[in-house]
Amino acid sequence: MSKKGMMVILSAPSGCGKDTVFHEILNIRNDVKESISATTRQPRIGEADGVNYFFLSKDKFEEMIENNEFLEYASYNNCYYGTPKKAAMDMVEQGKICFLIIECQGAKKVMKNCPDAVSIFLMPPSIETLEKRLKKRNTDSEEQIANRLRIAEAEIKSSSVFDYIVVNNELEKAVDEINEILNNELEKRNA
Ligand code: 5GP
Repeated sequence: MSKKGMMVILSAPSGCGKDTVFHEILNIRNDVKESISATTRQPRIGEADGVNYFFLSKDKFEEMIENNEFLEYASYNNCYYGTPKKAAMDMVEQGKICFLIIECQGAKKVMKNCPDAVSIFLMPPSIETLEKRLKKRNTDSEEQIANRLRIAEAEIKSSSVFDYIVVNNELEKAVDEINEILNNELEKRNA
């Protein structure tokens, strides 16, 4: 019997370090892949189309919504973000662990539509740490940072709907914890 894949939702407030955590996981496992999202936000310096995101116009994004091409999508900080359905489904079909690194509204939609998906909320040690990280990143205006922090507080409040909550205080510890979750969940599915 071929090995079963699975969908993993990794959600966290913006600036919590979910990309860093995910890259560490990519370094230690060869069965993990990331779903590349589509967005209508502008690329940041260093970001490339088809690598970090598919950067789309609002019209193109809305056309894809109409055609039911998203597994989920959400509006965040005045932009659309969405998971292209086919690519994510194909990864799971091929026995991979498909990571969806998405914000909470989208995460909840995936939990509803794909009850088999494993959901992990990465919790910042505190709102103050998050604020420091967002400021250090130097990619958003003061207003956007304030908005991201407001969203973060709401996300933290609703984190109990996730299967697992992992606190990102020490990178290595958070990565180990997620790695163990993946091993346990795979074992259940392939038993
Ligand atoms: P950023 O603008 O910082 O790249 O992303 C903002 C937020 O959107 C982050 O929390 C990120 O995880 C989330 N995000 C990225 N891609 C998707 C997606 O496909 N769907 C949803 N719902 N959120 C996404």
